[in-house]
Amino acid sequence: CGIVGVVGSRNARDILMQGLEKLEYRGYDSAGIFVTNEAQAAHLVKSVGRIADLREKIGMEVTGTSGIGHTRWATHGKPSESNAHPHQSADEQFVLVHNGVIENYLEIKREYLADDHFTGETDTEIAVHLIAKLAKEKNLSTADAFKAALNIIEGSYAFALMNVLEPDVIYVAKNKSPLLIGLGDGYNMVCSDAMAMIRETSEFMEIHDKELVTLTKDGVLIQDAAGNKMSREPYTAELDI
Ligand code: GLU
Repeated sequence: CGIVGVVGSRNARDILMQGLEKLEYRGYDSAGIFVTNEAQAAHLVKSVGRIADLREKIGMEVTGTSGIGHTRWATHGKPSESNAHPHQSADEQFVLVHNGVIENYLEIKREYLADDHFTGETDTEIAVHLIAKLAKEKNLSTADAFKAALNIIEGSYAFALMNVLEPDVIYVAKNKSPLLIGLGDGYNMVCSDAMAMIRETSEFMEIHDKELVTLTKDGVLIQDAAGNKMSREPYTAELDI
């Protein structure tokens, strides 16, 4: 349903939580955040119910410079804590939030992940296991494993992916689901709805379907499906808070 991500901020937790609150009006059944920092201390907190319920579960130790958050509107699997996003690979190295529906998730599970153990029932969890499997078995970089997974995945998606070993990067892709980049001074953001970023920035950059975006605190690398580097002009939008 809603996605927000930030990289390079001193206060990733609060930015994510404020973003999720801004996304509440779209409706959701559960929510979660993943927050990490250069020291690679990683925190994953999820909750069924209101953003206020999630906020109550987040302790003072949950601090970091980057992270991703999600409000879920269940399509596959009941609303529950284990089905809430972010989802992790079995080894907890990859962390993913997703809006949309992966049409061929059962085929992917059967064909590539027959031996995997899943903690929930979502289509999204299958995507993050697939990315991890491709990265490991083919010894691929995160971007290449993500790209390889996107070639297999069919359906609608807005994805924000993190690798705990690269706490200062967020990988982003979309297909038939809204997602855009927000540019900050010393940090960058990604979001499914500009409303969730307007406290932080009024500079945005659009992403096209099937592009792969590598987001760092001071860079936005956009590549098309063939791997060509795309140039994209940012635009300014003053929205009312
Ligand atoms: N299909 C995913 C799920 O059921 C994502 C739903 C959403 O867009 O919130 O978890």
